[in-house]
Amino acid sequence: MQKERNRREELRPYIEILSFWGESIEDYLFVFDVEQQQFYFSSCIWEKYPLPFMDISFGMEDWISVIDIRDRNRMVNNLEELKTGQTDQINLEYRMIDRKGVSVWVNCIGKCVSYDDGKPSIIVGNISENVVSKKIDQLTGLQNQTVLEGIFQEAFQKDETGYFLVVGIDDFKNVNDKYGRKYGDEQLKKLAEIIDKNLDYDSQLYRLDGDKFGVNLVGYTQENTRAFYERIKMDFSIQTYSTVSAGAAGYPMDVNNYHNLYQYAEDALNQSKQQGKNKLSFFSLDNYKGHLFFIDLKEEILESIKNNFEGFYIYYQPVVKNEDGTLVKSEALMRWRSKQYGEISPVVFIPILEQTGLILEAGKWILQNAMKQCHAWREFIPNFRMNINLSYIQLKDKKLMEIVLDALNKADLPGSAIILEVTESIQLQDYSYFNLLFYQLNKKGIQISIDDFGTGYSSLGYLKELRVDEIKIDRCFVKSIQEGGYNSHLIKNMIELAHSVNIRVCVEGVETIEERTVLKKLSPDVIQGYYFGKPETPDNFFQKFITKAKNGEPIVDDGERKVVSENNNLLKKNSKNYQNLLDELDDIIYVCDAETYELYYINKLGKKLTGVFDYSGKKCYEVFQKDKQICADCHKEYLVTGTFHTKVKRKKEVEFLIKEKLIVWDGKQSRLVIVTDTGEGYKSRT
Ligand code: C2E
Ligand code: CA
Ligand code: CA
Repeated sequence: MQKERNRREELRPYIEILSFWGESIEDYLFVFDVEQQQFYFSSCIWEKYPLPFMDISFGMEDWISVIDIRDRNRMVNNLEELKTGQTDQINLEYRMIDRKGVSVWVNCIGKCVSYDDGKPSIIVGNISENVVSKKIDQLTGLQNQTVLEGIFQEAFQKDETGYFLVVGIDDFKNVNDKYGRKYGDEQLKKLAEIIDKNLDYDSQLYRLDGDKFGVNLVGYTQENTRAFYERIKMDFSIQTYSTVSAGAAGYPMDVNNYHNLYQYAEDALNQSKQQGKNKLSFFSLDNYKGHLFFIDLKEEILESIKNNFEGFYIYYQPVVKNEDGTLVKSEALMRWRSKQYGEISPVVFIPILEQTGLILEAGKWILQNAMKQCHAWREFIPNFRMNINLSYIQLKDKKLMEIVLDALNKADLPGSAIILEVTESIQLQDYSYFNLLFYQLNKKGIQISIDDFGTGYSSLGYLKELRVDEIKIDRCFVKSIQEGGYNSHLIKNMIELAHSVNIRVCVEGVETIEERTVLKKLSPDVIQGYYFGKPETPDNFFQKFITKAKNGEPIVDDGERKVVSENNNLLKKNSKNYQNLLDELDDIIYVCDAETYELYYINKLGKKLTGVFDYSGKKCYEVFQKDKQICADCHKEYLVTGTFHTKVKRKKEVEFLIKEKLIVWDGKQSRLVIVTDTGEGYKSRT
């Protein structure tokens, strides 16, 4: 007791300073007696935090009781280090629970001012809510992303492992727009609450920008991370009827610096959003490279367009009369050659043009050039016409009419020389808008064609609602068409329906004499496809097709093709020998369609290991991954350069080297895949 009294005498000058200064500042000043483990505080701390108000001092247990349970360990460890003389300072951020039960982030700093035997004896310090407030999100009370760099730097130094998970509310902008900001804020708070409830003590939740939260899942594996996400996803959808997507990157497996970790987790989140939302994706270097590839292309396309469409050019594909195979028109197809990557498919670059709005400029460019070309060929075939593709973004452009008429004018063409192709899509369902536009175009003689017919929404309904002149039946209906088969019935019905409302029919993607023969009987008006001719440069188009058309000849002699086709069948028989050869290899080899992933070929080892011997009609991911969706790291974009793209994949304990390339297989653009086991894995099991 005497000792305690003496101690208090020693501390008196400090305590007096506390009560003097404590009145005039917002922070809470304190003196900590290291030896006695006692705190002395300026008085106002009792107003906000539930500390015993018996004396101006209190002990360790009382102090610990107001610290958030998740932060206690860190604080106790720090005080222990002071006691043992390992340090003479405090600099910590932790949460305190106030009288309302709200957890408040504070910054606690202190410095030793007196020593006994070289060990700190008295610490004088300050607890501040203000210092931390810049690092705290006002809405949720969580720390924001400004603290993350320090947190992860420390984690990397300590060689910790774990996952950084970024979670975002799907379509949050719509939620805000539709139900107001207040409702949106409630959703954010709810999500924070749900994540927080599911967290263990070592892991930590942070508010990032917009609708996103970051979670540092310390010590988690990929499986634990997925289970964690599934719990949040379920709780959130039950409580709010909304969904959340997430992306995760592992440290140090994927990356060991903070900036890339953040970037990678966000990239994985974008992946989830692009793949339909309400899901978790893990970071993959391949996907990331794919993403960078897109950014590269975007920059280069912009540069090309600025440089007067450098690298852009147009191919033309013939469209012939079904009856006699004579040329009636052509479809203009845009092409672009990248300086870095070579030829890029329009399936890749058109979406980039659309995303960036550059499609308006590029669309105008192709309208003007294709019309000029049409004018030139009309000298040889007076009624020659040109089909030109329009993106829905162009259709929504108020200047479209003006641009089309201006291009016709410049090319000195009547409106009846062109047909504008629009793709069947959900956007087209604003019937009144489009009917008015189509009506205005029709008045100038310009016709409208619905592209890729049958692949979109409520296809047949279109024919009643929209005033169009032509439909182009998609090539997927032509594939493996045989007389009396399902596809031939379907096409027959589509043709009859279109004809009953005076709409012309074009069938696309006719590749073989067999398809041509079946289609001829179904009487579409015109047909298009590799059987008649591939898209060609203007010079080649002229040489191959216009010269024949001038003389009224069909551009392909069906009789000649029949002989070639029979020879091809002979070749096919020979190809059996090559397939036997592939069956001897100890790599898995398969070929699938580049667009639909339908399997065309699997060698013997592939069939043996998957147990799938009849793969006809099946997709590669169904057979090899036993999955219903394409693999997340499967990118066609890599394959544009024509060389093998390689990647390494691990499955359980086995490492595979995968080589892929685009090839033509039976006239179809296909993906050749060679899978090599780099260790003893499957070889030892065969
Ligand atoms: P699309 O409008 O459906 O064009 C037909 C596509 O099918 C072309 O691919 C053509 O080369 C291909 N094709 C034609 N016959 C056959 C065949 O017998 N078999 C097979 N397997 N394919 C055939 P391409 O040129 O790669 O164009 C792809 C898509 O890019 C086009 O599909 C179109 O949606 C878009 N596109 C191309 N040029 C333009 C353009 O100038 N503007 C817009 N908005 N889109 C364009
Ligand atoms: Ca088209
Ligand atoms: Ca098409």
